[in-house]
Amino acid sequence: MPLLGGMVKVDGWIRRARSRIRFIARPPSFFRAPDTPMALALARKYRPRKFAEVAVQSHVSNTLRGAIARGRVAHGYLLCGPRGVGKTTLARVLAMALNCEARSPDGEPCGECLSCSRIWSGSSSLDVVEIDAASNRGVDDARELRERAMYAPSGDESYKVYIVDEAHMLTREAWNALLKILEEPPPRVVFVFATTEPQKIAQSAAPVLSRLQRFDLKRIGQGEISERLRHVLASEGIEGTPDAIAMIARAADGSMRDALSFADQVVATSDAGITADSVREALGLVAEDEYIAVLDLVAEKRAADVFPTVQRLADAGIDFGVFLAGLADVLRAQLAVALGGEAPGVAARTRDALAKHARTFAPGDLLRMLGALSEMEPRFRKSGQQQLLVEMLLVRFALIDRSVRIEELLDEIRGGGAPPSPPRGPAPRTNAVKSSAQQQAAPAPVPATAVERSAAINPAVEAGFLEAAKGRMTNESVTQQRLASLRQKDPVLGATIDALDLELID
Ligand SMILES: [Zn+2]
Repeated sequence: MPLLGGMVKVDGWIRRARSRIRFIARPPSFFRAPDTPMALALARKYRPRKFAEVAVQSHVSNTLRGAIARGRVAHGYLLCGPRGVGKTTLARVLAMALNCEARSPDGEPCGECLSCSRIWSGSSSLDVVEIDAASNRGVDDARELRERAMYAPSGDESYKVYIVDEAHMLTREAWNALLKILEEPPPRVVFVFATTEPQKIAQSAAPVLSRLQRFDLKRIGQGEISERLRHVLASEGIEGTPDAIAMIARAADGSMRDALSFADQVVATSDAGITADSVREALGLVAEDEYIAVLDLVAEKRAADVFPTVQRLADAGIDFGVFLAGLADVLRAQLAVALGGEAPGVAARTRDALAKHARTFAPGDLLRMLGALSEMEPRFRKSGQQQLLVEMLLVRFALIDRSVRIEELLDEIRGGGAPPSPPRGPAPRTNAVKSSAQQQAAPAPVPATAVERSAAINPAVEAGFLEAAKGRMTNESVTQQRLASLRQKDPVLGATIDALDLELID
């Protein structure tokens, strides 16, 4: 079903837009050495030193800890999962636990001894080698790795651990060279491969996969990120409002590392602690009020107000890609509310707005809006007219009204009396929902949805009625009249309408 595909695509868009947030918001870090204290303040300071501290991934950390406690460590591990969920962190804790001088009986590293400290900080340790496969992907690198792996670890008791990041970037030839080591691994050598794209490894190096123990790390939820942020900020004595913390967690999009880096960034640019305003400013986010204003505008079908609203965003220097990603978030939250669910992680004011519009938007309309958002994505990224595209999209949203009409019309036939709402009045669906609720309260079982209701109607009446309904909806003259008056009002709007395949026309 295309709508479902649309949702997935919107997801991808959000992710891309967020990586743009990162890019926009963090250029200075590109010029910093990675280990300077400034760059890594919070993300580094609060990097876990023990398995128990690795957030969310207890299904993996408990297994690894148990293997160490029982002395049954494998020669190769594959850690899969999205970025920022703790793959490298877990690999380092594993290396720490293998080489810790004061390891606890249950397999936890002490986190404090010289070996642990060195491995934890990623600084020079003879026994742990971290390799970025994105820059060492060829067969020569793998051969060198193989030769190095043949050297014994520095001490009798210690383990040599190779952590290969972005492992999906290794070439097939490199994997073949590595396969030879994994087939006959030298004693006390452990490989940990980390990847965001395990399917690529499956394509290029299936035989290697069968020699690795695979663990899939979970994406970190907004709630868990917020909780960790609260803990970190409290430990640092930094004030952070719940709204602001939720905003950072949302922008981090499942990455704990990003969340802490964002918090760092906000702290660095603001003297007043972490507030919604300081987060917005530091991360270049769009104010929630703007989304609420857009939601109101669409709900009330004020198509003409789209242009000043979008112009205000443009004047404020807002990145429209970021804006659309945020809009998709809000529409998705509205969809959740319209379906009777909850919208987690939104600010109080947005939650009120969503509740206010819970019955204004039919789920079908919201799905169509999300679908339209995702359809526009490929054009939007390449377009030099991003503002116009955003305007067209919002006008289109403001003019979507078909499912409202069908609901109304079916109500008319069902109840026989509900007067039709004016075509452009605000929140026309409220009546329909109310009367549907009344019907449900009646003793006779009445089907709830529009489709069921229409199916329950006497077919002959239905046929006649639907004919009439169709006549009303496709009535050329009404549509033309409306378009003509819109064109007259605003020539730009007229051009926009011409470019749209408005559903209400067909
Ligand atoms: Zn230790």
